[in-house]
Amino acid sequence: MSFDVTILGAGAAVPTLSRGTTAQFVNCHQRHILIDCGEATQLQFRKFKVKFQKLDIILISHLHGDHVFGLPGLISTMQLLGRDQPLRIIGPQNIKKFLTQQFEHVGIYRGFPIEFVEIEPNYSGTVFQDNCLSIDTFPLNHRIQTQGYKISEKQGKRRLNKAAFENENVSVAYINKLLEGEDIEDNDGKIVESDAVTYPPNPIKTYAFCSDTAFDASVIPYIKDSDLLYHEATFIDKEAERASKTFHSTAKQAATIALKANVKRLILGHFSARYRDTAQHIEEASAIFEPVFCPDDGERFIL
Ligand SMILES: [Zn+2]
Repeated sequence: MSFDVTILGAGAAVPTLSRGTTAQFVNCHQRHILIDCGEATQLQFRKFKVKFQKLDIILISHLHGDHVFGLPGLISTMQLLGRDQPLRIIGPQNIKKFLTQQFEHVGIYRGFPIEFVEIEPNYSGTVFQDNCLSIDTFPLNHRIQTQGYKISEKQGKRRLNKAAFENENVSVAYINKLLEGEDIEDNDGKIVESDAVTYPPNPIKTYAFCSDTAFDASVIPYIKDSDLLYHEATFIDKEAERASKTFHSTAKQAATIALKANVKRLILGHFSARYRDTAQHIEEASAIFEPVFCPDDGERFIL
């Protein structure tokens, strides 16, 4: 089973030939999730050979253009190519209006079912779960309602300690109960404790997404101990004042959040097109937190 994140766009504001605007594809145990959908994201899917027809869920952080302008085009293409599977779109208030008004005016959308989940401003909590993952949202500090997301694997079953189990000479019919943590009484009246014949489940992994946001430590409890954190770093330290005025973060600030939240790895992104490369972002962030990555579009991170 796999859990990985592909960066489809790591740029801010305007798509360029070298970087798309914010979009990330998350594959969590064959659940396919897109986070944000900047303009031309459907081309990024094609470029990096990721299949967009398999998307189950789209998470939208906020309604700034560089995070949503790709959505009408992507949905229109999905429809033209014959999609019939339902799609769930989770985002801030007015995400439904944003899309349906466009469909109304261009008269194109009569396709597959879309279920919208609109999040109330300042809400934090679970917005989706099934038997293999859960998605939580939390508020970020930006100029309009903006939601961060955390995708967590569900805790699996305990794992069988084969040698101990065989030693107990218990019928295999009891395996499932033991793996679920139940102690059992076998056919001969003998009590076998789950702990004695199983190992604890594998630890769950979590991916947290924070874009766009000003530096704000109130986000830390929501992302604490994540295995992988994406935090926007639009600017370098020299532009700290501009970052705070526009409710964005610097690389140093993103690294500070990663350090305080005790995450394992940090990805930066939403880079302003004013920078020719990300050398300065890496230098400033890695002085505070490591490992830190400034990905090119198409880079994949395995959890
Ligand atoms: Zn924004």
